[in-house]
Amino acid sequence: MQLPAFVDLRPIGRCNLSCPFCFGPRHEVPSMSWDTALDVVGVLRDGGVQGVVISGGEPTLLPYLADLAGELSRPLPSGRPPRVVLSTNGLAPLKTMHRILPHLSWIALPLESRDAGEHGLLRTGSPAPHRDRVLGLLREVRKNHRHVQVKLGTVVTRLNVKGAPRVLDLIDERSRPDVWKVYQMSETNYGADNRDWLSLGDEEFEDVVKECEAAAQEHEVPLRVYRNRTRTGSYFFIDPDCEIVVVDEGEERRIGNLFEKLADRTLRPAEVITPARNVENFAGTYPEPDDAPAL
Ligand code: SF4
Repeated sequence: MQLPAFVDLRPIGRCNLSCPFCFGPRHEVPSMSWDTALDVVGVLRDGGVQGVVISGGEPTLLPYLADLAGELSRPLPSGRPPRVVLSTNGLAPLKTMHRILPHLSWIALPLESRDAGEHGLLRTGSPAPHRDRVLGLLREVRKNHRHVQVKLGTVVTRLNVKGAPRVLDLIDERSRPDVWKVYQMSETNYGADNRDWLSLGDEEFEDVVKECEAAAQEHEVPLRVYRNRTRTGSYFFIDPDCEIVVVDEGEERRIGNLFEKLADRTLRPAEVITPARNVENFAGTYPEPDDAPAL
């Protein structure tokens, strides 16, 4: 069974933040067990998957995350290791991160605004100073884990239109990310609950994007933009309960349990994603180290 080239594995819904725009699985969903996660890794390897984004929820809350990243990063039969990306909110202690980082190709970290107040309105629920923790982790990765590339992500909502385009001002030259990706807030899961007061329309979002383009040029960081209207067909999520989730007409759609669909031979990836979009979305955001993204 050939799977999509790139997969988003969400083994946990639980999180230690409660961001109002969150489009991950509901936090109360039970996490994937280690045995099941190992079975999923086997399926991904057999299916020729070339890159995996581990997200959630907050994946660093999983006790087995370092082992999972280690299993995913083992070389494929071709001899080439898959690209393993960790999407984290950055709150995990450095001790935890030091066990995980050796297995990663990329880490995706969030910053929502240069303005601490705006950032705090969107990254809610933690007594720890979230923005400072992210910046500290970014410096640590740059200093001691140079093989790991960094994507900085900024979700644009009505609450951070002013400070979102200026997040790179917070980062010193030596710690600049390899890619900065600006996201239009997705109206799914918690984002759907809060869309009335938080979501930004297409035109307003494009105004923010123009400012981000200028800032990216100024700081010499390649910019990528995620627009809701081009989400369809890009993603193949595997949720904590092993349900496959795809994006159809901008909405998430559960298409069935991964293992059941493999057993009854009803999984046809090319019918539920658009392979070219799946590749463009992943490879455009997380290129190989020797394939530097264009400014
Ligand atoms: S957006 Fe990320 S950090 Fe925020 S609540 Fe959702 S999973 Fe947690």
